[in-house]
Amino acid sequence: MRFKLFTACTALSCVLFAVGCSTGKPTASASLPTQDFGPGFHKVKDGIYTFAPDQTTTTCSMVVTNEGVVMIDSCNNSVDSKKMLAAVKKVTDKPVRFLVDTEVHNDHTWNHFVFSPPAVVVNAQGAAEGMKKGLDPKRAETLAKQSPETAEIVKNYKFIPPHIEYNNRMTIQLGERTFELIYLKNVHSEADTVIWLPKERVLFAGSAANVRTMINLRPHVRFPDVLAGYKVMRALNPEIVVPGHGQPTTAKIFDEYEGFYTLLMKRVGEMAAQGKSLEQIKKELKMPEYADWAGQDRLGANIDVAYSSLKGK
Ligand SMILES: [Zn+2]
Repeated sequence: MRFKLFTACTALSCVLFAVGCSTGKPTASASLPTQDFGPGFHKVKDGIYTFAPDQTTTTCSMVVTNEGVVMIDSCNNSVDSKKMLAAVKKVTDKPVRFLVDTEVHNDHTWNHFVFSPPAVVVNAQGAAEGMKKGLDPKRAETLAKQSPETAEIVKNYKFIPPHIEYNNRMTIQLGERTFELIYLKNVHSEADTVIWLPKERVLFAGSAANVRTMINLRPHVRFPDVLAGYKVMRALNPEIVVPGHGQPTTAKIFDEYEGFYTLLMKRVGEMAAQGKSLEQIKKELKMPEYADWAGQDRLGANIDVAYSSLKGK
């Protein structure tokens, strides 16, 4: 993968990019795996790191400023959260000041307690309500059985809903960096936020698009809203896009998902026009063009959303 990214550049510029030199055209090679904190960490830019153990697991990220750290999501599980916290401590002695959620689901929000206090948790309006809906009161107990390491961490578990819920847009100015929070409606969970760093041209895009995976779409998601969300994000012209799951990538994921959802809606629409029921459509519809995407068992949920989106319900 790394070799591929470098094939287009000269030997000298390769060396420059490899050490994070910012001369020349920005390329995706700016985001490299880093061994500084262990496997799964990527350095996106100076002071900006992502962590996802593999391509489908939840991503969490840190952005270091001279006044402290802003985290994006609280990691897939408590052990990962501790790894992220250890990485933060390696980079700076300043505290995690803010923790911004890209969505409300447990794999992004359940581990707030590892970072907060001191972190102030932020997400869009409706986030606390959404989090409560998905809360399993026995989760800490169940997780504690996984390993002594997990048990040790989750004994400190506390439900921490966002301290701040904003409406539509919010800007956080911390140290030398600006974080623009943008609410996207109906794209994934009850409250979805994307975080845009305009100077760095890095976009934390949440789970409206991931990397070649059929997403576990909830029934309230609507494709016209999702496509509108891609339009908003593409218009920012990001250099690097950090998805809600997996490693840093580029805006090409919006094109890939737009292609998938557009074709899916076309096929569902045609079959519905032939008088087929939703059940028949789910039985017959195939998406062979996307056979290599992960999460094929979620095609049914994707068809449900296409059907509701077309019916305007
Ligand atoms: Zn989710």
